[in-house]
Amino acid sequence: MNSVKRTDGKIFTPSKIIGVGLNYSEHIAEMRSQRTADPVLFLKPNSALASINQPIRIPTAYGAVHHEIELAVLIGRAGFHIPADQAFRHVGGYALALDLTLRDVQRKAKEKGHPWAVAKGFRGACPVSDFVPAEHVANPQNLELTLSINQTLRQNGNTNQMLFTIPELIAYASRFFPLEEGDILLTGTPSGVGPLVPGDRISAKIEAVAQVETTCLDWGND
Ligand code: MG
Repeated sequence: MNSVKRTDGKIFTPSKIIGVGLNYSEHIAEMRSQRTADPVLFLKPNSALASINQPIRIPTAYGAVHHEIELAVLIGRAGFHIPADQAFRHVGGYALALDLTLRDVQRKAKEKGHPWAVAKGFRGACPVSDFVPAEHVANPQNLELTLSINQTLRQNGNTNQMLFTIPELIAYASRFFPLEEGDILLTGTPSGVGPLVPGDRISAKIEAVAQVETTCLDWGND
């Protein structure tokens, strides 16, 4: 099982990573999609986790792999049916994650009404930084996110643009999934998603959370 690290040294082993689609309106527009009444959730397996400090290895044999910079929320305290007004008590930290997406595979799945599992859950589909303890982030709902590829700005947003807030996402997800210590919630991406190719140099930052520099490599034959 893969683990993630918090900057105070504590190690967490997520039982699941919960993603949310379409949580920023400009991203909905670029995907030519529609706003939804409830959050659109999906899962990534533990085996999708990778350290963002290592080169990002992508499966180029299956079409475009898109970057989606996202604020990752670490569940520090288990819960089921968590009320939104209690949700922050269950948050143990924040990190910068990339919700890597096999976009061509996902588009075909959407057309046919099929699950997104392989498009979102392949090996290495969730590179994540170390988590900072929740108490170090004064207002997680007002953080600037930026992602550049080869020094060209691709994504720039703010967590205050989320359609469903962090407490609303935790409340909704925990109606269905008992949240366990170490689980990770990805909170959606702002606009500007696009393809990664081997050799790309990625610079990504979430204010007060993480600043990372990494590179992109092909999976190769392993
Ligand atoms: Mg996403």
